[in-house]
Amino acid sequence: MSQVIRPYLGEINDFYDRILRFESQVELAHSYDPSEGPRQYVKEDIDRVMEAVAGGFDFDARALEGLRAALRAEKVDFMALTGGAGALLEDELQFLSIISRPFFRSMNRAAGRDNAFWDRGRCPVCGSVPCLSVIEKESQRRYFCSFCGCRGFYRRIGCPQCGNDKARDITIISLEGEEGMRADTCEKCMSYCKTFESPMMADHSPDALDIVSISLDIVVQQKGFFRHSPNPLGIIRMA
Ligand SMILES: [Zn+2]
Ligand SMILES: [Zn+2]
Repeated sequence: MSQVIRPYLGEINDFYDRILRFESQVELAHSYDPSEGPRQYVKEDIDRVMEAVAGGFDFDARALEGLRAALRAEKVDFMALTGGAGALLEDELQFLSIISRPFFRSMNRAAGRDNAFWDRGRCPVCGSVPCLSVIEKESQRRYFCSFCGCRGFYRRIGCPQCGNDKARDITIISLEGEEGMRADTCEKCMSYCKTFESPMMADHSPDALDIVSISLDIVVQQKGFFRHSPNPLGIIRMA
């Protein structure tokens, strides 16, 4: 763990614990099947989710009321989040990506698409661009969706964002003293995907790997590369 992130690690872990508690407290009435299509919480779930949000976080009360009203008016589109930040402010993206976690996780359970090949480099459940992968035995590369948690396979060499598979455009960045993790950066579209060696998976969930490697995000982003999906704390830009 680099010096950059160590002083903040306590706070980061506390925040992630809150997010996990929030998720475990929400019991959804509806199962969100991606083929059926609600793109936000249905009526029966809005109050359940908002109650857990109000109890679990110190978010601004006005922001919560605004969101509750928008959800009731069916004006929220969680599926649009997976296309990147777009016109959203970073705070809004963070807020919405945390609040939508039970929605996306439910979608993944309903879809049951784990271990498929991701044809276009996108999560087959929610369409997001992966920012996390693990090199497994026989050099297979398994990808993880930051939104719904789906896991699957894509080319070992290549950029899931733009499909570029020319090795000369892919540069590997790793940090001294941080074994078992690296970022595969694409010079063509300037995005990156963090890659871990499989023993790292023994001790960490994909979410936890994303969090312990924030120092790598910071360094890679300082070099001008972007991630297209936020981390489990809802953060997309670290530098
Ligand atoms: Zn997904
Ligand atoms: Zn690319």
